Amino acid sequence: MKITFWGAARQVTGSMHLLDLPGGTRVLIDCGLDYEKRKEFEERNAHFPFDPKSVHVLVLTHAHIDHSGNIPNLVRQGFHGTIIGTEPTFELSDFLLHDSLIIQRMEMASKQRFSWNQSGKKNKKGQIPEVKTLYNKRHITEMLAMSYSLKYGEEFQFNDELGISLHESGHILGAASIRFTITEGNNKKVIGFTGDLGNMNSKLVPDPLPMQGLDYLVSESTYGGRKHSISSNKAEDIMLDEIKETCVNRGGKLVIPAFSVGRTQAIIFTLHQLYRQGRLPEIKVFTDSPLAIRSTKVYQHNLNFLNKEAQEFFKQYGNLFEFPLLHVIEDEKESEILSVIDEPCVIISAAGMVEGGRIQMHVRNNVGHPNNTILIAGYCAAGTLGDRLLQGQDFVEINHKPRAVRASIKRTDVFSAHPDHDQLLGYLSKSNTGNLKTIFLVHGAVPQMEMLSSDIKHCGVLIPEKGQVVELE
Ligand SMILES: [Zn+2]
Repeated sequence: MKITFWGAARQVTGSMHLLDLPGGTRVLIDCGLDYEKRKEFEERNAHFPFDPKSVHVLVLTHAHIDHSGNIPNLVRQGFHGTIIGTEPTFELSDFLLHDSLIIQRMEMASKQRFSWNQSGKKNKKGQIPEVKTLYNKRHITEMLAMSYSLKYGEEFQFNDELGISLHESGHILGAASIRFTITEGNNKKVIGFTGDLGNMNSKLVPDPLPMQGLDYLVSESTYGGRKHSISSNKAEDIMLDEIKETCVNRGGKLVIPAFSVGRTQAIIFTLHQLYRQGRLPEIKVFTDSPLAIRSTKVYQHNLNFLNKEAQEFFKQYGNLFEFPLLHVIEDEKESEILSVIDEPCVIISAAGMVEGGRIQMHVRNNVGHPNNTILIAGYCAAGTLGDRLLQGQDFVEINHKPRAVRASIKRTDVFSAHPDHDQLLGYLSKSNTGNLKTIFLVHGAVPQMEMLSSDIKHCGVLIPEKGQVVELE
């Protein structure tokens, strides 16, 4: 039996691992888009280092594009096996993959227009070549037709040698860790894949559940070496303090960049809790992200995938996210009107790192006024606008123009969707019930992986390179 690490090896995006079983079954774990070098996006994602037709089963941990985004391309290139995941993962993937296709179309079109103009030919109407994308809508439909959903904890015997079960990973709605039981004669081996793990005590989703009886574990390591800024305050208190300080005391706007799936719902749910507790000041809350609105509906009809707190809240109030102060922005025109509203308010918009999406407009309009606050609620990769704001620069460039930063720039880890160093170590030690031989670290930058590796004492650790093959005995 062997495992090949084809993606998220010594990097964060492009998750994809191939498991070859002794009886010939080929299993792919995730098939995400690799965003590591934006300029090489097409070359890094267009081709697979194995024959897609040879894969029998693909198991998907969760809907985020760096885990699911290349599946329609795998289908386009001949994959015709089964795709296993949870029901909400497939529902969210449907939205996210269509959204990713639109982004690809826009990016490829602008690239092609640029090279067309560079070529010196006249850009006459109808002469621009057809825009190439990794897949078409048809491939998303075909992919979803191959899906087979499991509940958390349900045991599924794929064939004589392969059993599969999915377990709460606590990252976003429906996110799962995978536990494979591989049978060869009288011998059984258990291999776990954490997928992306969640922060402990997250809003809406259950805590990550360590898997038992493992021989090998492939683990994410996103926040190795990092400590979440711990505050004894709960999410409700943190949000309330920010709203009071910015909106009530200063009469300003509180702008929160947040990813459409996961963080936006957690923040709106928190504000709804405050409202029901009678603690939320009379301040309008706007949510401005079309994808977030669609994803929110998926949360509401998959209540059994949510944690107890959310389920009980729903039982009591009949919905998770709607309250009178919340205004949902549907189209782009409304979004623009929002930019001229002159009253204190909260604006939640995508994307989380302030790269692309409608949030750029809201940051641009509000970053120059000292009464306002930009509250960064999650990880910002180096070089993104979110990261530059956090560095405390006096000016930031938005849409090729420098903008003075006078708003107060803050961050909170309370809505983080990944565990920090200590939480990860705790999870890993609970995953070792005696037989664990090796933990393979993936989905992290090398320094993060090394810091985590040096603190794992109870078993072997390997940080595989891309394409590295490891025999599992
Ligand atoms: Zn994720």
